[in-house]
This record gives sequence, C-alpha cells and structure tokens, in this order.
Amino acid sequence: MSAIETLFAKALGLEKPWQIERITFSEADKRLDIYLTFSRGSRFVCPKCGRKDIPAYDTHQKSWRHLDFFQHQAYLHADEPRLECPDCGVKTAEVPWARPDSGFSLLFEALIMLLAGDMPVKAIAEMLDEHDTRIWRVIRHYVDEARQKEAYWDVKRIGIDETSRKRGHHYVTIFADLDQSKVIFATEGKGKKVIGEFSNDFHDHNGDTWNIREVCCDMSPAFIEGIEHCLPNARITFDRFHVMKIVNDAVDKVRRLEQKECPLLKKSRWIWLKNPENLTIKQSEKLKDLSKLNLKTALAYQMRLNLREFWNLPPIQAIEFLKSWCLWALNCGLEPFVEVVKTIVRHWLGIINFASSKISNGIIECINGLIQAAKRKARGFRNTDYFITIIYLIAGKLNYKLPT
Ligand SMILES: [Zn+2]
Repeated sequence: MSAIETLFAKALGLEKPWQIERITFSEADKRLDIYLTFSRGSRFVCPKCGRKDIPAYDTHQKSWRHLDFFQHQAYLHADEPRLECPDCGVKTAEVPWARPDSGFSLLFEALIMLLAGDMPVKAIAEMLDEHDTRIWRVIRHYVDEARQKEAYWDVKRIGIDETSRKRGHHYVTIFADLDQSKVIFATEGKGKKVIGEFSNDFHDHNGDTWNIREVCCDMSPAFIEGIEHCLPNARITFDRFHVMKIVNDAVDKVRRLEQKECPLLKKSRWIWLKNPENLTIKQSEKLKDLSKLNLKTALAYQMRLNLREFWNLPPIQAIEFLKSWCLWALNCGLEPFVEVVKTIVRHWLGIINFASSKISNGIIECINGLIQAAKRKARGFRNTDYFITIIYLIAGKLNYKLPT
C-alpha cells in the first residue's frame, strides 16, 4: 500500500484481512472510489452461527456510498466473500464498514442519523443526493434496533395523549414515561384498542403492566375503559389541561350567546380565554372596560379564573374547593357551566386524584410541540410509519448503535 492508501485504510478503520487495493479520483465526475480487497487464503466468520475459519469459496461485487470527500462523492467497492458454512449453508460474510444489505457505509449512516435529529428527511436526501426512501430505510433501521433494546421494567407513571399526522385526522396515540420524559410507545389510532397494543408492546420490553400505578389522560371513555381493562393497578388522573379546556369552552359558549345582545363582546374571545398575566396592555384595558358591564361572560370568566386555584391545593382542601366550585357553577344560571359540572362529577375521582398524584401531560404537550414543528418543517409525512419513526427519533431518547 502507498502512503495515501495507508492513510485511507486508517481513516476507514480497516483491519486484517481487509486492505485498500487502489484508489481512483476523478475531478471531472467529482468522485472518489476506494477499492477494498482481502488477502488470499483469508478466513471468515459465518454471520448466522458465528463459526470461524471458513474460507471464501467465491465473491460478489458490491459498492457502498461513503462520507463525501470534500465536494466529491465517495464510494467503497469490494468483493464480498461468500462462505459455505457446514451448518448454515451459503452465507455472505459481514464486512466491517457496513451493515449487511445496506448500500451505505456505517459512517455514512451515522451522518444520516446525525442530520435526522434536526433536518427533514427530504432535505437530507437532497443534500446527500440520494432518494429519500433510502434515507428513511436507514433511520427506521436504527430507530427500530434501538427501540428493540429498550427495557421498561421500572416504568410506573405514564401519560397518554394523541397527536395527528394531518390536520384533524390520522391520529397517533403517544405513551410517555412521565418520570423519564420520553415516548415509550406510539401507535396509529386513538380508541380503546391502542391501550391493548401498548400493553402488549410493554410486555415485549420487560415491562409489567401491574407496576404502572399512575396514568394521566384526557376524559375519553375509550381511554378510561382501555386502562381499566389493560392496566388494572393504575390510578387515573385526568390531565389538567384537558379539564381546563372544557371550562374554557364553556366560557366561550357563554360569550357567543351573550354577544347577540351585547355586540361589544365581538372579537373578545381571547381576552376571556387567556390568563390575565398573558394579556397585552390593550387586551387588559378592554377586559377592564367589559368587566364593568355586569356581563354573564365576566361571571363565567371569574369562575374559570377561580378554578385555577384548585390545581395548587393539597388533597383534602382540593375536594372541599371543588365541591364549592361546583355548587357555585350550578347556581350561576349559566347552562354551559351546568354541563361542565356534570362532566366534572362524572369524572370526579380522576380530577381529585391530581391533588395527590400531581401528574399532568405537560411533557407530552411539549413533545407534541416538537413533533408538530418537525411535521411543518417536513411539510407532512407520507405515511403513519414514517410519522411514528420521527416521534421516536425526536422524543424516544433512544440509544443508537452508531460508529464513532
Ligand atoms: Zn453458520
């Protein structure tokens, strides 16, 4: 080997019996081609059973895209040895620089995974001048491989929430470990069956559903039924943001009914739905003016603000507080709030549980924000599998087996 070949062999981390045969460099084609070979009489390992010392009986030519050499695309070429293992039959020996069946070197795949953390797959494909299907295949391989190794024996508190691949449909339900703040499962759909799918996957990863003591979710009957069925030891806490959402919706219903008699209320929706500390100066002034008018909407707003205190109280006070709040809401004469009370009463325990469990799906909201941002950057995903792969990539905190 010449000095330059020795240098490249070192850069590639080549070990015996592999060596560089020759390197060709074409300025016109912007290409660097590195031809690898193994010494005569070399012996290899059967990739299936691990039997050593098998000679190659023939070879099969193959090429791999490697990391660009400055502005030149680089390729590795080698004759892959084929072995005849006495136990497994004909097998192709593994090469140290690539995974079996991949057309990319391990370092090139490591680059793809590095980029995939920040860039949409389409942009990576354009930058590397490869078809995006090939890029997806690499990402899915590493995500699947890393997920397979995940163990959930110590997961005790989970949050469940849904996200959508397209506006308003193609739902995916996300299961997060609330202590590790990471997604441990994501699946298509949002009904009762997704809890069963989670439970099966959880068992496959050394998880014991009996260990799951706390679950946070919204008030959907399908989730509740699924949890009771599949997570028998879990106590449900309804997510505080979802509880406040029904109250917000009631405030807005009151406002919409009232604005028919009081046109001043038009275009005031966000004034009543935002928290006072988040209003702009202009909005604060408008709120002050409207509050003087003895409006039903202002009463509804006061009830919403008042309920916020519930989330800071210890268990016994929380129960007393919620009881009084419900009585107040029932007696206020606002129909949407009577409906809110009915919903709260139907879900009483799961709402009160917050005072002792203190769990919410805030972390999933946060993860969802990241996922939706990735979705916008990618201008959507072609299918749900890709979408789920990206969810794991962004929020799975997975350990990838990548060369360094
Ligand atoms: Zn074998």
